Amino acid sequence: MENGLKPCPFCGSKDIRVIDRINVSDGYHNFYHIKCKGCGASTDECKSMFDANVAWNRRV
Ligand SMILES: [Zn+2]
Repeated sequence: MENGLKPCPFCGSKDIRVIDRINVSDGYHNFYHIKCKGCGASTDECKSMFDANVAWNRRV
């Protein structure tokens, strides 16, 4: 896959999205999490896209 993410370990979907948002409550910290569009599984929010990718790819 172009973003290096593994298919969802729960449903096998390859429709994996990186979600980012700005935490408005504490300024300008971006948070990233990765979510499966197939079954809705997601990682916890991470402080970088890299961390989110690692968190996703560690899932079994
Ligand atoms: Zn899934």
